[in-house]
Amino acid sequence: MEKKKLDWENMGFNYMQTDKRYVANYKDGRWDDGALTDDANIVMNECAGVLQYAQTVFEGLKAYTTEDGRIVTFRPDLNASRMVDSAKRLEMPPFSEERFIDAVVQTVKANAAYVPPYGSGATLYIRPYMFGINPVIGVKPADEYQFRVFTTPVGPYFKGGAKPITICVSDFDRAAPRGTGHIKAGLNYAMSLHAIVTAHANGFDENMYLDSATRTKVEETGGANFIFVTKDNKIVTPHSDTILPSITRRSLMYVAEHYLGLEVEERDVYFDEVKDFAECGLCGTAAVISPVGKIVNHGEEICLPSGMEKMGPTTRKLYDTLTGIQMGQIEAPEGWIKVIE
Ligand SMILES: *Cc1c(COP(=O)(O)O)cnc(C)c1O
Repeated sequence: MEKKKLDWENMGFNYMQTDKRYVANYKDGRWDDGALTDDANIVMNECAGVLQYAQTVFEGLKAYTTEDGRIVTFRPDLNASRMVDSAKRLEMPPFSEERFIDAVVQTVKANAAYVPPYGSGATLYIRPYMFGINPVIGVKPADEYQFRVFTTPVGPYFKGGAKPITICVSDFDRAAPRGTGHIKAGLNYAMSLHAIVTAHANGFDENMYLDSATRTKVEETGGANFIFVTKDNKIVTPHSDTILPSITRRSLMYVAEHYLGLEVEERDVYFDEVKDFAECGLCGTAAVISPVGKIVNHGEEICLPSGMEKMGPTTRKLYDTLTGIQMGQIEAPEGWIKVIE
């Protein structure tokens, strides 16, 4: 298979149409067989459930080329099960975990020419999603759904190395107690847009959201979970029912404990204790870890001891170990790497 002639080194995080995408339809109470298609456009009724009442959930993962030239994805089984959870919460018929993985494999294989070469820093981003497609005007779940997977090559998240970012405590809330913060739904992102545009206008890279019930505890950002490193080198991550369970964060906690021999804690993290941490990072599929150098709460600055020049030493070890596992340089735990053959 010949690779497309793309400028792998200089790609951004933008949509680029690739050759094939996977589509399955749910109608009369069952999912059809699904198939790959060339058609990147979707035609739907003006009153489709997704357009009127935002009945849609999604996932995000990557395919990349390892040092020995294999195309792999990272823990797609966890994306599959998380999408089942997301679908159930929005009263959508789950697409089975088995079929989810099969759809991802088929789509990546069909677009193998777009999987960036090893060492380029670029990856093939995979976007599975599903939505209510039949007309719905009274408020109720749709009866018909579409599940799709498309891929798009994306550049390295950080060009020229990961510089620490500055974030602010948001005045807006991300998720209500007993709401939908724990599922990957477009609705959580629609309502975060005003908050992120505001943060950017004020000169910040990201928002830190606090728990909306008490506004005393750290939750997450709009699209990444927090991990903190204490001054005695423990790894701490917030525990909350309204945080999206990041696969990157769960993998980093495992790596911290089992590869680096560090103590790990998932617990309430009060904003008041953030000033005492040594390092802070944001974790998600896109960047793996973005180091945080400064956290601003209404003019009051918390400067992490790791500074604004580079990742803190423990964050760096976590980052290098997880990306080493992903790239096939460090042996992965059983089942973490799915080879596309
Ligand atoms: C997708 C997402 C993350 C990151 O999850 P990963 O599985 O690590 O990519 C974190 N927070 C939110 C709100 C998300 O939607």
